[in-house]
Amino acid sequence: MSNSKPKKESPLKLLMGYAGAYKYLVSVGRTLAALSALVAMVPYYNIWKIIKIAVEGENLSAITPLAWQAVGITLLGMLMYIAALFCDHIAAFRVQANMRCALMEHISRLPLGVFDKEGTGKIRRTVNESTAATETYIAHTLADKAVATFTPIGLLALMLIFSWKLGLICLIPAVLGFAAMSLMMMGDMQEKMAEYQNSLDTMSNEAVEYVRGIPVVKTFGQTIFSFKRFSRAIDDYEKWTVAYTVNLRTPMTLFMTAINSIFVFLIAAAYYFTKDGITTDAVLNIIFYIITTPLLTVTLTKIAYSGEAEMVVVDALKRMNTILDMKPLEDVSEIAMNGNCDISLKNVTYRYDGAERDALNNISFEIKSGEQVAFVGPSGGGKTTLAELISRFFDVTSGEIKIGGVDIKKIPQSELMKKVSFVFQDSKLLKTSILENVRLSRPEASEKEVLEALHKAQCDDIIQKLPDGLNTIIGAKGTYLSGGEKQRIAIARSFLKDSPILILDEATAFADPDNETKVQAAFQELSKKKTVIMIAHRLSTITGADHIFVLNEGSLVEDGNHEELMAKNGLYKKMYDEYQKSIEWKVGA
Ligand code: ADP
Ligand code: MG
Repeated sequence: MSNSKPKKESPLKLLMGYAGAYKYLVSVGRTLAALSALVAMVPYYNIWKIIKIAVEGENLSAITPLAWQAVGITLLGMLMYIAALFCDHIAAFRVQANMRCALMEHISRLPLGVFDKEGTGKIRRTVNESTAATETYIAHTLADKAVATFTPIGLLALMLIFSWKLGLICLIPAVLGFAAMSLMMMGDMQEKMAEYQNSLDTMSNEAVEYVRGIPVVKTFGQTIFSFKRFSRAIDDYEKWTVAYTVNLRTPMTLFMTAINSIFVFLIAAAYYFTKDGITTDAVLNIIFYIITTPLLTVTLTKIAYSGEAEMVVVDALKRMNTILDMKPLEDVSEIAMNGNCDISLKNVTYRYDGAERDALNNISFEIKSGEQVAFVGPSGGGKTTLAELISRFFDVTSGEIKIGGVDIKKIPQSELMKKVSFVFQDSKLLKTSILENVRLSRPEASEKEVLEALHKAQCDDIIQKLPDGLNTIIGAKGTYLSGGEKQRIAIARSFLKDSPILILDEATAFADPDNETKVQAAFQELSKKKTVIMIAHRLSTITGADHIFVLNEGSLVEDGNHEELMAKNGLYKKMYDEYQKSIEWKVGA
């Protein structure tokens, strides 16, 4: 009786892959549910008998015990069903938890770059909601399905026992209903459902972007229509919702009409069977069927809905697989790095997935341990990408990056993370205390060490002004930090980690010069005795660098120290001159 067989493996089998020993509990649950369906049929026999006694008008005293028996058996059936749900729920939560763990475990091994590309909203929705869909399926749908499978069998038996002719007549609308239902499951329903879910995904992703963008929208006096992508996502969602609904309209109408028309058939049959005079048996059977047929209607509806629930689960599993199919960075556990922290790049080329051209093209250079270098160049030149490749956010498309003489693909992730720290342009702080935020980089650090790191990162003034000092929760009760302050906290985090290689993506602009000076000072302190890569936007900050790499359109166009580059009279000099002009240009000067 299971409908719409999925093409490959049944969703149940896939789900049970996550259930471990709990899959037996699911079997127990389904068996109990099936038995409860059969038990629930028994009282109908009592009802038939009661009607018979009532119609015949004899031995009326036998009615009461029969009725009590019916009540007792009904209660037993209900208890069995509750027990079934109990088993299924326990298993369902376990499966859901295991799936989330499996997903998160996999996600934690994915290249960091994936999160930019996929959108964290989408990943979050898959981890939360797709797994939740499977919970509903195991906890409710499976039991319902077992009931819906065995009820018709019991009903059929009952019907054939009492009057097979009437029984067959009742089955006509049931068969019609089934035909309509198969119509529903046929064709491109599964795809429509997938499109519908996709559009829901996109919409929620864009909604997050929209909320993030509200400050910009307000500042520039725009409306929601300026968020073309969001409004397009809403239109798309509408389109697929309507398509899905329209697809269902005819079969659903047919289905509802068929299963609710059993009485029409029954009444016609009643006329037919009593045309030669009314017999007690005929009256008895017709009354009995009038009582039992609503059960058939309810059961068929349940089957139809379990079909839909199954489609939702098939889709949810597909979504989870899109995450599970993403290739994690290969992790090797044997080769540890030794010796120095020289960075060397050989013919490094990188192209983003689906991009038309390389973001970086054939880059080779070396950075010696302890050197302080800078990446400069016009926006879009590839500076951030290059820094991210060195910290292995992605793997290079071709070429090789070595740290300490070892290809970074061969360095265990945990080891590489100890060697490199990255202070982002837009440093993220978690909604927790300053202490915990700094400690992220080394959870076992003592409070004293955290304070020391904060001091070195010039954060004393931040701690002082916060109500609970180190224990102030960021983002709570109106405690917000400016971009520069956040970056200083992020620098404290790097101090605590104390990795030999440091990458800093300089924030493009600070609101106040005081902050800027402090960030610079903190960074100078942090840079001592380390290999430093600085992505610089204000060229004044890097004139003292040991080596400057100028990137333009993905290629390394010049390199050397400040004096050498100025002497070359190329892109660097041009940028530097423009920069000088821009700082000379002041309001009222
Ligand atoms: P820079 O930091 O020098 O401004 P980026 O490294 O951010 O430059 O970008 C280099 C090139 O790669 C640009 O052409 C940019 O459009 C492209 N790019 C950056 N990030 C992505 C991404 N996630 N997907 C596709 N292309 C990207
Ligand atoms: Mg950049």
